[in-house]
Parts: sequence; structure tokens; C-alpha cells
Amino acid sequence: MVVRFYSTNLKAPEVTFRRAILQGQAPDRGLYMPKEIPKFTVKELSGMKDQSYIDLAFTVLRKYIAPEEIDDKKLRTIVSDAYNFDVLLEQVTDKDYIMRLDHGPTASFKDFAARALGRIMSHFLSQDQNEAVVLVATSGDTGGAVADAFLGLPRVRVVILYPKAEVSDQQRRQMTTLGQNVTAVGVTGKFDDCQRMVKEAFADPDLVSFGLTSANSINFGRLIPQAVYYCYAWSRLALSSKDRVVFSVPSGNFGNLMGGLFAFRMGLPVKHFIVATNENDEVPRFLATGTYTKIVPSKNCLSNAMNVGHPSNFARLIALYGGNMDENGKIRQMPDMKRLRGELYSYSISDTETKATILSAYQQHHVLLEPHGAVGWAALQRYKSKEHPVEFCVSLETADPAKFPDTIQGLLHINPPLPPKMATQQDLPEQLYEIPTTYTRMKDFLRQILA
Ligand SMILES: *Cc1c(COP(=O)(O)O)cnc(C)c1O
Repeated sequence: MVVRFYSTNLKAPEVTFRRAILQGQAPDRGLYMPKEIPKFTVKELSGMKDQSYIDLAFTVLRKYIAPEEIDDKKLRTIVSDAYNFDVLLEQVTDKDYIMRLDHGPTASFKDFAARALGRIMSHFLSQDQNEAVVLVATSGDTGGAVADAFLGLPRVRVVILYPKAEVSDQQRRQMTTLGQNVTAVGVTGKFDDCQRMVKEAFADPDLVSFGLTSANSINFGRLIPQAVYYCYAWSRLALSSKDRVVFSVPSGNFGNLMGGLFAFRMGLPVKHFIVATNENDEVPRFLATGTYTKIVPSKNCLSNAMNVGHPSNFARLIALYGGNMDENGKIRQMPDMKRLRGELYSYSISDTETKATILSAYQQHHVLLEPHGAVGWAALQRYKSKEHPVEFCVSLETADPAKFPDTIQGLLHINPPLPPKMATQQDLPEQLYEIPTTYTRMKDFLRQILA
């Protein structure tokens, strides 16, 4: 079976994986979704426990990519190059675990998706003898992960828009010190402004000749690599194929959660997903009330990569549950709320609670969390106070605590050591650009640097 992809706006032709990746966003401004979600066989599920991370990544990606698009040998090379780092499951209590997804080169879980996507895209472009410009909006970590994953890859240039005042110094340095095919520009606004301008550019006929594409999680290629670590965690913990696991996912644009939901729909035994947000609580409120209201402007919280007032993947989530949402966040058809509420538990965690959680996790369990992981862990505690699960629970830690030295130092009076690569970036010269939040100004900038 070859998986085909439709647009959530339902006004664009169906495409294969290859076109979905190279286009990023569908021409009707919708998001690509698989028409049918492939299923794991019973044998595949029970065999997962004996597979390495790389084997698992191959199994999952193979289900979406036809051999004519990428043959077995090439796909194996892609996943083994991409996943050359550890995935740690840290036991905290009897059945509660933290999965550390921060051991990639930029110390963010976004390395998982960016490294696979970069290699897949570069492979497709070289087959076609074509070139592309990857245009990315980042709230903090995507920019660094995409920059690192695509640095030096032939046939691709990367342009990153980040909210100038809302990323940490280290996050900025991960984007501005690389050079080569990577350009980062600070926008004097919010992440949502960056995201809006990027979406506008994709739909702009004047820019078609640049071959713009996306490495944000609007690109389907960012999601499916993120289904793999859910399978990995489940396979290391479940004693039999019937055992179910609860996952707590710190969420901003909901790409990470979509990865988990795809794994679930492929047949991974999950009991519930806990959707953990910071004070940008539009999704928990939607689940509670059935009314969706964007948060404009988004609130500045400690977990800055989750300061999102209108998650770009929310239309996908709605589509997965049978509803329809347009690119502005208007719901045209309600999803199956009963099913949604049965599968997802969603909590908004304040900055005060985030800090208290970093402190208590360290004092009670000797576990070092940073603000994003702390939001996930706090939401898991709330869930447990309601549900009393007897299952394994896995809370995802999405960044290295060393990326948030001020918060950690202030609360715990320790200085987590920077991963070596980030330490080197401290001293490298930066190439800094700045633009306002006006689309035409950003378009001029693009034309100037790509000319
Ligand atoms: C991007 C990011 C998130 C949010 O992930 P989404 O897929 O956008 O929901 C959480 N934590 C960190 C550290 C991130 O960089």
C-alpha cells in the first residue's frame, strides 16, 4: 500500500510522501495528512522490543515511504546517520519514567525530526537535480535543530525567522554562528508573527521560483520521525503486547503530540496522552469547553519553545478526530469530542507551578528538569491525582537543562554543564539580521539574501 496525502483544507490534489515533503505546506494552505494510516502487524509490535532505535526508525518510516521513493539501503543509511545519539529512559519511581530526548547535537528533541527530514529532503532534491530554500519560523529550538541538521547539505539553503527578544542567547547562537547555507534573522515580534510571515511566503506566487519549503512541523516529514520514540519507549517498558503506556507530552505547536498520535493510530498500545501546555492554554480550554479561541499575542512563559497561541498542527489533530479547521483556526466541522476527551487529558501549567516542579523533582527524586520537561512532569502528576494509573507513565523531556541556566541556577543553585558543541558556540562570531513584522519587509529581505 502506498500512503497518499490529502490537504486539511480539502482543496488541493492528493500527493505522495515525496511531494508532501518537498512542498511542506499544501497549495491551498492546508496541512498534509495521510489518507489512511498504516498499521503495525502483530508481529511487528511484538518484535519491537528486540529492535534497536535505528531498526525501529526504519520500520516506522518504511510504512509511509514507498521503496520507489527511497530504497531500503538508502533509508537505512538515512536513519543510521540521523540517529547517532542516545535515547535515555530514566526511571523516577516504580512505574514513572522520563524519556530524555535531548541528547542530539542541539540538545533538543527537535533533532530527531530535523535530522531525518534534512537527509530525506536532500536525497529527493539530488534525485531531481533540484534545489530548495527551507524557510523556518522558530520559537526557540526548531531553528537550531534545523540549522544543524541541514548545515552543509548540498542543494538546500536555510532561512530562519526567530522572535528577537524571546529566544535565549544560546538558542540564538545555535542559529547565528553557523554561516554556510544557514541564515537566521531576528523579527521584532512574536513567534506567531514569524509563523504568519512564513505561511504567507509559501502561498506567495512571487516567490515560487525559489522553491520554498518548510522544515517546521507543518511539514509532514517532521512528524513521522517523532512517532519512533513513542514506539521505542513502549517496547522497552511493556512486558506484553497488551500493556499500555501513558505519555505526557509538553506541547507548543503539537508536532510532538501528532507523532505520538500517529504511533497510536498505527496500533501502538497507549492508554492516554497527556497534553501539557504552559499558560498558553487554548487547547486545554478547547477540550474542556468545545470552544477554540487563539491567544493573541501568545503569553511569554519560561518554557519559551511552547509560547504558541495558535498551534500550527492543531488543524491536523482536529482532522485526525474527524473534524475540520481552516488555516486561521476556524472550526468548520467539530471533531469527535467524545473520542478526543477519552484519549487526551490536557492541563495548563503556570510558570509558578513549573518552577515548583523543577524544585520538587530535584529534591524528591534527584531528577533535573528544565521548564518544558517540568510542564510535562507537572501535568503527569495532575493526571495521576485523577486517574490512579497502574500502567507505565512516560513524561518527555524535550531539552537539556543547560539551555536554561538562569532558571536552573535560580532554583537549584547548580550550573548544569553545557553540552560540548554548545559550549564552543559561545565564542563564535554571530551574523545578526533584524526585520520588523511586516510581510513585505520580510519578502524584500528574502529576495536580497537569495539573489
Ligand atoms: C518545540 C519544543 C516543544 C514543543 O513541541 P511541539 O512539537 O511544538 O509541540 C517542547 N519543548 C521544547 C524544548 C521544544 O523545543
